[in-house]
Amino acid sequence: MLFTPTVIRNLLKKPATRNYPFEVREPFPNYRGELVIDIDKCIFCGMCSRKCPSQCITVDKDAGTWQCDPHACVYCGLCRDNCPTKCLSMKDTHRKPVTEKVVWIEQGNPPKPKKKTAAPKAEAKAEPEEKAEAKADKKEEK
Ligand code: SF4
Ligand code: SF4
Repeated sequence: MLFTPTVIRNLLKKPATRNYPFEVREPFPNYRGELVIDIDKCIFCGMCSRKCPSQCITVDKDAGTWQCDPHACVYCGLCRDNCPTKCLSMKDTHRKPVTEKVVWIEQGNPPKPKKKTAAPKAEAKAEPEEKAEAKADKKEEK
C-alpha cells in the first residue's frame, strides 16, 4: 500500500484544475489575442505584410486597403511589433468562433506622395549660362 499517502494527500488538497466555464482565469499581461488595427494611423508601408510568417496580411497602397485572413493568423505579434506607426495592437482575448470563413478588410487613406519643387531645376539650367558668360568674359580679356 505504498500509494495510500498519495491518495490521502490528493483527497485533502484543492483540485489542480479550475471549474471552467464557471471559473475563468484572468489573462496574462501582454497576452497575444485578437489583432486590432487603427486604420487612420496606417501609412500602408507594408511592413506588417512582409514580417507576417503566415502571409495572412495584404496591403494595397494604391487602393488604400489593409486586408487580413484571421483564420491564418498564428498570433505571433510580429506585425504589431514591427509596425512603424504602432497602429496594430492585440487584445487580451481571442476572437469569437465563426461558422463561415471571413476576410477582414479595412479601407483607409494612404498618404499622398509629396510634389517635387521646380526651383532646383531652374538653378541647374541657369548654371551653364553663367559658365558660358564667364568663358566669354575670359576670351574678351585675352
Ligand atoms: S506596418 Fe503598420 S503602418 Fe505599415 S502597413 Fe502595416 S499596419 Fe500599416
Ligand atoms: S500576429 Fe503574426 S500571424 Fe497574425 S497577422 Fe500578425 S504577423 Fe501575421
